[in-house]
Amino acid sequence: MSADTMQMRVQAIRDRMAAACARVGRDPSEVTLLPVSKTFDDAAIREAVSLGFHRFGENRTQEIAQKAPLLQDCQIQWVVIGQLQTNKAKDVARLAHELQSLDRLELAEALDRRLQGEGRSIDVLVQVKTSPEESKSGLEASGLNQFLRELSRFDTLRVKGLMTMAELTQDPQAVRACFAKLRQLRDLARQEAIAGISLERLSMGMSGDFELAIEEGSTEIRVGSAMFGSRASSA
Ligand SMILES: *Cc1c(COP(=O)(O)O)cnc(C)c1O
Repeated sequence: MSADTMQMRVQAIRDRMAAACARVGRDPSEVTLLPVSKTFDDAAIREAVSLGFHRFGENRTQEIAQKAPLLQDCQIQWVVIGQLQTNKAKDVARLAHELQSLDRLELAEALDRRLQGEGRSIDVLVQVKTSPEESKSGLEASGLNQFLRELSRFDTLRVKGLMTMAELTQDPQAVRACFAKLRQLRDLARQEAIAGISLERLSMGMSGDFELAIEEGSTEIRVGSAMFGSRASSA
C-alpha cells in the first residue's frame, strides 16, 4: 500500500466525519479517529505514524507484544479494544496505555493489582452491551452505575467514559439505537455524579457505521479497514 493511498483513505474518513458532524451541528474537533491496527503489520503502522497517528487500537495483547518492539522509536500508545481474559491483565498493565473493554469487576481487580506492581495507571472505558445479540461482549446496561461506583476505588484506573459495539445488522435504525442507548446511559450515570468519574468520552463507531455513531454523540471512532484496507482474517 503506498503512502498516498493511506493518506487518501484517511482524508476520505475525515471528510465523512466532518459531514456527519455538520449534519448534527457538532464541531469536528470533538471527534477523534483511533486507527485499529489489528492484523496489520508494523510497516502499515509506521505509515500511519508518518501521517501523525500515535495511538493504535489492538484487540489482542499478544499482538501488541509482537509489534511494540518493532516500533519502539515511534512512541506509540497502545489501546486495547478487545474482549480480555483476566489472565491478560498482566500484559495490559505492562503494554497498554488505555483499555476500552473493561466489562467486569474481576478484570478491574486483576488490572489494579498488576498496575500497582508496575507503578502505573491507565485510562479505561467501560464496555457496555447495547445490542440484543447474545454474542456481544460488554457489561449489561442495568449494572453500569453499580459497576462505576465499584471502579471509583481503584486509583490505577482512570475511568474516562464508555465504549460499545453496535449490533451487527444491515438495519441502520437498529445500529443507531445502540449508539443512542450508550449516550443515554452515560447521561444517566452522570446525573448520579459518581465520585471522580466524569465520563466525557464515548467510543463508538467503526468503519461501517461511524457516521451514525457521530450523529449520536461519539467522541471517538475506532477505524480499521477503512484506513488500513480489508483484513485477511476476521479478527
Ligand atoms: C476490529 C475492531 C474495530 C474496527 O473495525 P473496522 O470494521 O475494521 O473498522 C473497532 N472496534 C473493535 C472493538 C474491533 O475489534
